Amino acid sequence: MKKKIIAVILMLVLFVGTFSVLAQSLEEQLQMQDRMIYTQFTTYYPRDNRYNTFFGEIATNLNSTIVDVFGQDKDIIFYVCPSHFGFNAMSFYRVIIFDSLLLDSLRHLAMARAYYGDLDNEYIDELAQSVGTISRKHQSRDFSGINFRDQNNPFGLPPVGQLTPQQSAKAQELFKGMLASWMCHEGSHCMLDHVKVRMQEVQNMQKKFHYQGNRKQFANSLNAYAYAKINQKLEKEADVMATRWLIESGYSIEGFILWLKFGEKLEKAMGVNNAYLRTHPKCSERIRYIKQAAKEYKK
Ligand SMILES: [Zn+2]
Repeated sequence: MKKKIIAVILMLVLFVGTFSVLAQSLEEQLQMQDRMIYTQFTTYYPRDNRYNTFFGEIATNLNSTIVDVFGQDKDIIFYVCPSHFGFNAMSFYRVIIFDSLLLDSLRHLAMARAYYGDLDNEYIDELAQSVGTISRKHQSRDFSGINFRDQNNPFGLPPVGQLTPQQSAKAQELFKGMLASWMCHEGSHCMLDHVKVRMQEVQNMQKKFHYQGNRKQFANSLNAYAYAKINQKLEKEADVMATRWLIESGYSIEGFILWLKFGEKLEKAMGVNNAYLRTHPKCSERIRYIKQAAKEYKK
């Protein structure tokens, strides 16, 4: 994974619609889509450099095992910025966008876990509420609450108490583990060409049903159906590969499980209408098969 930087705004679903009218190869279209996405993100959202050291360190570790895990290397670039994703990251063909609120939320979660020792406390509930509220604001393109002069807490997340040096060290380790799990998950989507797989499946279905019924109506229901079905399958695949990649790169799955447990609280705070929760299996289900995959991989 090359540590270059990139960016985007257009949702993948838009491209499924325009896909068939363009007389380019799939590869060319995906590369073009990446360039558009990168250009749009770098144009509209300011780059967030606060986590460069963490990204650099983890990318180096993941790069060192990428060929062992996937049998090949691919140039994947990422861009970090406050975006309309809210608590989320998004992978395209070879481009990954990490949202700043996601990173700040994970950092606060790591500090709280180190400070309180568990997730069953009022602070965590307050954090989940706060992340849910800010996510919704950002998703509707309302960035009014951001204070860029406060580099430590620009989104105004509830502050954690004063950590001891020991707790700080633990928090940092947890944060790295969580960030590594996100990088492995999104990176696995890229390494496994999931965007291409998704488009090919949609294309195949379009061909198959070309002569049936109202085309436009069909395309709409097809997209929804294809997305729900294909997404769940690909998300699980990315989670399982990410688990292997994490362990191979020297990380435990503790961080992965930790933020998924927080994700369960977010599910409650944000409801099922959140984009992130619509496209991924339920957190409890993910925790179950990730633990299973880790067990099998360690054998
Ligand atoms: Zn995913």
